[in-house]
Amino acid sequence: MRIATIQRDHCRPEKCNFLCYRLCPMVRTGKETIVIDEELNKPIINEALCSGCGICVKKCPFEAITIVNLPEEMGDPVHQYGVNGFRLYNLPTPRDGVVGLVGANGIGKTTVIRILSGELRPNLGEEAGWEEIVERFRGKEIQNYLEKLANGKIRAVYKPQYIDSIPRHVRGTVMEILKRGDETGNLDKIIEKLNLENSVHKKIKELSGGELQRVAIAACLTKDADVYLLDEPSSYLDVRERLNAARAIREITDRYVFVVEHDLIVLDYLSDYIHVMYGRPGVYGVVSNIKSVRVGINEYLDGFLSSENVRFREEIRFEVRPPGEKTEVNEILSYPALKKKYDGFELSVDPGKIYAPEILGILGKNATGKTTFVRILAGDVKADDVDLDIELDISYKPQYIKPRKTPVKSLKLRPELIEKFKLRHLMEKRVDELSGGELQKVAIAECLSKDVSIYLLDEPSAYLDVEERLELAKHIKKFAMEKKIAILIVEHDILLIDYLSDELMVFDGISGVNGHASRPLDLRSGMNDFLKKMDITFRRDPETGRPRANKAGSVKDREQRKRGEYYYVG
Ligand code: ADP
Ligand code: SF4
Ligand code: SF4
Repeated sequence: MRIATIQRDHCRPEKCNFLCYRLCPMVRTGKETIVIDEELNKPIINEALCSGCGICVKKCPFEAITIVNLPEEMGDPVHQYGVNGFRLYNLPTPRDGVVGLVGANGIGKTTVIRILSGELRPNLGEEAGWEEIVERFRGKEIQNYLEKLANGKIRAVYKPQYIDSIPRHVRGTVMEILKRGDETGNLDKIIEKLNLENSVHKKIKELSGGELQRVAIAACLTKDADVYLLDEPSSYLDVRERLNAARAIREITDRYVFVVEHDLIVLDYLSDYIHVMYGRPGVYGVVSNIKSVRVGINEYLDGFLSSENVRFREEIRFEVRPPGEKTEVNEILSYPALKKKYDGFELSVDPGKIYAPEILGILGKNATGKTTFVRILAGDVKADDVDLDIELDISYKPQYIKPRKTPVKSLKLRPELIEKFKLRHLMEKRVDELSGGELQKVAIAECLSKDVSIYLLDEPSAYLDVEERLELAKHIKKFAMEKKIAILIVEHDILLIDYLSDELMVFDGISGVNGHASRPLDLRSGMNDFLKKMDITFRRDPETGRPRANKAGSVKDREQRKRGEYYYVG
């Protein structure tokens, strides 16, 4: 079964004068394999007539066309966004407990959520009525859910992925807004669980990203709905806030809960079941069978779905390093105790040393001075009382990246990074035309393209999907080893920190008031210290070696607490 997609937002016939149409060998022999839709002024590919020669795919200057062969048994999609549009295959299974969805951006997660919420009626490829839709899923667990949807008997609440626009639509203080929407009478408890006490009197437009995210989650959890759909609840949150949000979401009972999440530790902690979504972003997406959370995430990392017998990428391996083991390193920078006072905020940093090759992870609460520390090293901010005379050149990727008007191709990126981060198709764009994830990857590549001995990456995972995070981690690790340089990484995604870090700096304090940074610690001590502060224990998955948060009060959790071993190595 051959499918052809044209990503309409990439296709620019005014620039190429319908090159695909002009070059298609089938068109040249008089067949209507590609026709030009006069109304849309876009090409349309007739899949039944296409020979799959791939010429148009190769020649399209904007990489808009994809032709893929799918196994016959996939049948018709559940939904297709028009001719040559994205196709979704299969739907997830509603179960008691939290069902997590994991997969790359553009693989159809939002489409699934829109279908489950009743906002989008699936068209089974072209056009379909509810009766036909229900019939298609007869005998599956979702049949009953679809019947209810058809009869308007499902009330869904939805926390969207992009929360930045919320302040434009609602007015008032956080408390006023949440009170107005509360249908459960549990508002006070939820405010406490999400640690929003100090934010409720603020106006919605004064909130930080992390506060806004928690308010959006609270608004969702205080509704009396049949299904709760949460798209990326962990964005902008620090580790503690992520876990608190996960606990609050897990307390929903007797209702359906679906969560899309790119932080695998949070997804693991949050979910009872997993659907892996695979395929080709922007082209087609398949919802896997339902899997237990452990198996689902392991298979996701493996890149192989066993019950489907499908490999969708290479395996990603977690190497479990015994404590204390160190490769040969050289000291490249030693800094004294540092202090920095702002109006209302104070940071103190214990003295430390940085080695190469090394990846130094930096973990801690929001607003405890992580970025300030990194900016002191980068020379952007001056520490109080000491003249930090760093002779090494430092390359720095800030947390917030300014979208400039510069063309991407003028950035002098290392060719191997363009390749590894898959940036080639962005070369014709300007930096301010990029999406959040594209901008992030370009900024990381730009930072790593400088020839220096220390690189600072502040929150490189923000806006990246799970697939891009895993890829990024792999490349960063290789880069540090090959170039024998030091990379400092501020991150809230613990899986990345665990995978990458040789040493760890832990920040604590009172958010927005004061912060204290430890010296660089070995991974085991650093993690142990940090997790103790988070009040959560981790174990390792025996098959993949990946870290997993223990459920509070479980046997492992109690055992490890007794031993004071919050981070389980080996
Ligand atoms: P995800 O949530 O996993 O990022 P989406 O469901 O948003 O994926 O999108 C999957 C694909 O469907 C993308 O290629 C997107 O461009 C396309 N798509 C989404 N909504 C529409 C729409 N209304 N019309 C046409 N294409 C769409
Ligand atoms: Fe041009 Fe590519 Fe669009 Fe065809 S698909 S019209 S080659 S941009
Ligand atoms: Fe034409 Fe070949 Fe493209 Fe099919 S793959 S539309 S036959 S150029």
